[in-house]
Amino acid sequence: MEGTEQYAQRLTQARALMHAAGLDYLLIGPSADLLYLLGADNRPSERLTLLLLPQEGPAYVVLPTFEAATLPDLPQEVQVTTWDESANPARIAATLLVAGSGVGPGGMHCTVGVSDRLWSIFLIRLQAELPRAAFTSASTVLTSMRQIKSPEEISLLAASGAVADRAFEQIVRRPFIGRQEIEIAREIAALLKDGGLDVEGVPIVASGPNSASPHHHAGERAIEQGDAIVLDFGGTYQGYFSDITRTVFAGEPPGAEEAHVYSLVAAAQDAAVTSAHPGMTCEGLDAVARGILAEAGYGQYFSHRLGHGIGLEGHEPPYMVEGNKAPLQANMAFSVEPGLYIPGKLGVRIEDTVVLEEDGARRLNNVLREIVVVQ
Ligand code: ZN
Ligand code: ZN
Ligand code: ZN
Repeated sequence: MEGTEQYAQRLTQARALMHAAGLDYLLIGPSADLLYLLGADNRPSERLTLLLLPQEGPAYVVLPTFEAATLPDLPQEVQVTTWDESANPARIAATLLVAGSGVGPGGMHCTVGVSDRLWSIFLIRLQAELPRAAFTSASTVLTSMRQIKSPEEISLLAASGAVADRAFEQIVRRPFIGRQEIEIAREIAALLKDGGLDVEGVPIVASGPNSASPHHHAGERAIEQGDAIVLDFGGTYQGYFSDITRTVFAGEPPGAEEAHVYSLVAAAQDAAVTSAHPGMTCEGLDAVARGILAEAGYGQYFSHRLGHGIGLEGHEPPYMVEGNKAPLQANMAFSVEPGLYIPGKLGVRIEDTVVLEEDGARRLNNVLREIVVVQ
């Protein structure tokens, strides 16, 4: 689909969902939401940039004059309003919002959905300009759209995942023992970039006792013979994230207890992937993996949710977590990443990104999930 045509369709869909949700306007700040709706990848800053989308009628992008050139081609229904350094952009946005309504900003009664990532400094100013408007989260609209991936989005996620798979195959052939976690992490990032991904941040490389900390930051610890090493990484391909975790062992196959922990995590991961289907709840999928680990007596060591949605953000809805009774739907993409973390000793996590199809989950990461020994 042509660029602007795809975004015009998304705006139309957003307006229909706004109608259903009773939202008169959406205010979308620079974020994955804006990227999704317009293809505009503006970064949030202290200067207000905003998409103002009414349920009907023209939409506006309000942004600093000197940034106007950064906008991509926009659908016809979107007009651009720029503001100069000394202007009050919240007032400009409020004035555009009430245009044609016959009332001033101060008298406007309406319901405004605000994107989750619009900075509070702007929200507070917009609330002051529109004192009679009710402000609520735009996520009812944006989440329901973004969590269902189009065929194009799924191919981008798959391409991103394939690069991450290749990076894993390459990194495990390199030396580990005696080298610092951070060196391995930088090499993984370089492999991802060589494969065509953009990488922000540093991959997780958590060795030995650090493996028991799920979000350990790769540091200066030198990898030792016998370590378990959790490798968790990904990047973006045309904006779409990959996210994979494998746990490898340094120098020798793991001992009996470690191998047992590994096989439990692998079994829980596989059971969750193979049982996922549309209509199942998010918490139900989490419970599949959790049940296997608890049954084996390791329940207390699985300290995080089973997974998260993935797309234009690395972590986005839906979240596979107890309490989330939302049903899984076809064309959702999410991670399945059970882990066991025994403090001070050992951590094992295995993560694949999957896309849910009508008859079950399809993995977008397909590299070996068997035990791998690195040197
Ligand atoms: Zn994480
Ligand atoms: Zn991950
Ligand atoms: Zn993840």
